Amino acid sequence: MRHVQPMIIDNVRIFDGKRTLSRGSVECADGVITRVTADSAPRTAASASTDVIDGAGRTLLPGLIDAHTHVFGAASNLEMALAFGVTTELDMFMGPPDATEALCTLAGERHDLADMRSAGLLASAPGGHPGVTMPDLPTVPGPEQADAFVAARQAEGAHFIKIMVDDGAHHGMSLPALDRATVTALAAAARRRGLRTVAHVAALWSARLALDSGVDMLTHLPLDAALDDAFVSRTADENRVVIPTLVMLEMSKTVRSACTGRSLADDPQIAGHLPEHARTAIAEGDEGLCIEEASPGHHFTHALSSVHRLHRAGVPVLAGTDANYRPDRACPVVHGASLHAELALLVAAGLTPAEALTAATSAPAAHFGLADRGVIAPGRRADLVLVQGDPTKDIRRTRSIEAIWRGGVRFDREAYAKRAAAS
Ligand SMILES: [Zn+2]
Repeated sequence: MRHVQPMIIDNVRIFDGKRTLSRGSVECADGVITRVTADSAPRTAASASTDVIDGAGRTLLPGLIDAHTHVFGAASNLEMALAFGVTTELDMFMGPPDATEALCTLAGERHDLADMRSAGLLASAPGGHPGVTMPDLPTVPGPEQADAFVAARQAEGAHFIKIMVDDGAHHGMSLPALDRATVTALAAAARRRGLRTVAHVAALWSARLALDSGVDMLTHLPLDAALDDAFVSRTADENRVVIPTLVMLEMSKTVRSACTGRSLADDPQIAGHLPEHARTAIAEGDEGLCIEEASPGHHFTHALSSVHRLHRAGVPVLAGTDANYRPDRACPVVHGASLHAELALLVAAGLTPAEALTAATSAPAAHFGLADRGVIAPGRRADLVLVQGDPTKDIRRTRSIEAIWRGGVRFDREAYAKRAAAS
């Protein structure tokens, strides 16, 4: 790999992915963290070539991981993500497969983009959502075809398997959905092949179906009701993981005032680094679900209560945005910036700020098998974010970004802001 200047971040509060060290130093060489020292222990003497950064009054975080995005083949989305401290995106549906593989390779090499992993093509029912508008998307007619589907995705380089359990109701349609036998077969095939499964569930019936089928992770949450105690304790007992995507669910409200996600457009710490098209998308873009008017009884608050209950029961909750913005599509959940709203919403749902930070760092790394990142510890990648103040006390401090490193290489945030302003 290319030579990266050694670096020491000194005299800094460290949130290592799980715990907070009130003051210490972090040393990196060749893009990897080599030493983490508490204040009382002497750090290595810096050589003349070492970049020494004074972290007084600041907090060092592991690079943030967004556990649910859609990159849509746009490297610019990965650049926007990195500009807000998101060093890894987990893409939940992208095609065609050769383009997905090429972008994953590119993202692995370029230090000015967030790294990515992808599900590639998702599993859905013939004639169902979203394949009804994508005739080339392979579908899964029944349990007999599940193993071949998973094998094909694995051959294409998919890092995990995304399963759509949706009848199109949120889009005003009534479409065929994958049944329990088929989802069970998909989950079993993936497990045999060493791949994790993530099921899209946005209604109570689909969440139940996913739980009954043995899927590893549920993403989104029902809006028609909060999850009840029986559901929540089963989710905990069976070691499932949830990626709520609160910022996307909240954006689907028709009433746009007092919306945490929309308010990003007016936050100077965010808006100053956004391309104008993305800023307008956040303020005015349409998510397309419009849950609270179109569907009686559907409320965003149900999802907040579910997160509260799941977290209290010990179910791992991962920060994911469902970012689906791209430059030609003004969807309001943009890459990078939206993760800061997701963190605030997780705190609103009852996580402490430190628990919310875990949900965006060490927890997604652990549950997606990314053993080289998500934690500030020797041997891990030097994916780091330096912020002013203490986000373990006030989650909004994640937005006061001073510096971002990906693999030990500092991202030129000022140049990105200038380019964004000129766009
Ligand atoms: Zn999604």
